[in-house]
Amino acid sequence: MPEQQVDLAIVGGTVVSCDGADPRLATVTVRDGVVVDIVDGGRTVDARRTIDASGSAVLPGFVDSHTHIASNMLLRGLLEDTELFAWLDTMWRLKQNFDHETLYWASMCGLVEMAKSGITCFNEHFDAYAVTPQVRALEEIHLRATLGYGFADGGVYADVADWSWAALADFDAASSGAADIDGDRVRLALSPHAPYSCSEPMWREIRELANDRQLPVHAHIAEGLRESAFMQETHGKTTVQWLNDIGFLASDITAAHCTQLTPSDMRLLAEHDVKVAHCPICNAKLVSGTMDLRGLVDAGVTVGLATDGPASHNTLDTFQEMKFAAITHKQATGDPTFLTTREVLGMATEGSAKAMHRPELGTVSVGAPADLTIVDLSGVHVAPVYDIEAALVYGSRADDVTHTIVGGRIVLDNREVVGVDEEEIVARFSEHAIALRDRSL
Ligand SMILES: [Zn+2]
Repeated sequence: MPEQQVDLAIVGGTVVSCDGADPRLATVTVRDGVVVDIVDGGRTVDARRTIDASGSAVLPGFVDSHTHIASNMLLRGLLEDTELFAWLDTMWRLKQNFDHETLYWASMCGLVEMAKSGITCFNEHFDAYAVTPQVRALEEIHLRATLGYGFADGGVYADVADWSWAALADFDAASSGAADIDGDRVRLALSPHAPYSCSEPMWREIRELANDRQLPVHAHIAEGLRESAFMQETHGKTTVQWLNDIGFLASDITAAHCTQLTPSDMRLLAEHDVKVAHCPICNAKLVSGTMDLRGLVDAGVTVGLATDGPASHNTLDTFQEMKFAAITHKQATGDPTFLTTREVLGMATEGSAKAMHRPELGTVSVGAPADLTIVDLSGVHVAPVYDIEAALVYGSRADDVTHTIVGGRIVLDNREVVGVDEEEIVARFSEHAIALRDRSL
């Protein structure tokens, strides 16, 4: 009996499944958005589309467990050599002048950049501004996303208190433009900004809403010494202790940053199964501290890798983040054997998927959604390829990604984002960004 035709076959590539298995030459087949088979060796398959991945690695798509696309694209490269609160202040001046068209082009540019660097799924944290322009962009460029509605009512964010409380009081109305895109592809989350910008009543209200609606929570937690000092002055506690004491900690949380944790904080995060999104480049650039990765992993906390926004990382590039993470933690622990290349790849894929509450993603496995990234390993900067995982973590770069596939749908095809005009997107985005800067600063 002839085999049933599949939608997509990826042949000749080396599959790096990111589930602990060794890389192996295999053919990956996809039907109805799901990986249906991974067969060792090369073979001919009856497929509607076949991609020849000879000389390339076939990976699960990268998962970015904490970022800000639209807002941070507009601040990229605008304010360098400064610290977190100085750029929060500048960001705030821009945000007051955001308009839908500017946010739309910023989102398009961010999605193109992610698709070109092999990111298939991202965890967006909004800081109380319009979500709908990004939803419009996601209708054109089909990445997966969880869109965290941003809330804040204090500090530099005091001006958004009314908007935030109104959105919490009627979340259905606030999120009506973003629900139900392609069923499960785009999900919603609740994103309190940070402990220094949200009041205790707001944290309590968000906890109730999250429990009631079964929505994940995505917040900046324990990011830097200034936050630690604020929490000590205001509450006499660490951020994590305080969140525990008000009953906020739970397994539905993605806590971004976590650079300032005590051993007791790490135990609390593990006890409540709070997930952590690790942003090593942003943390180093803003001198927010180095997260104790070994401490968290030893405590049993799930940790994913994240770029954070392009304001503080400048690129949406997981390759840079992987290399930097490995190097930083070897240096911080004084142990060159800590954080192997396989572990770094796992943190950028499976770890991040779990950290953003999408555990079905992040590996190349039969039955899993076909979110895949193909990376060309023929470049001079990785030759000779003795060890594919080493090439991917330490040598490869975003430009080496040739295909990005989300749910079986090819989003990046031979280095071109399907269905959009990249040059026009960059031109329109730059035009709108410069106009925004000129009327804000
Ligand atoms: Zn952030």
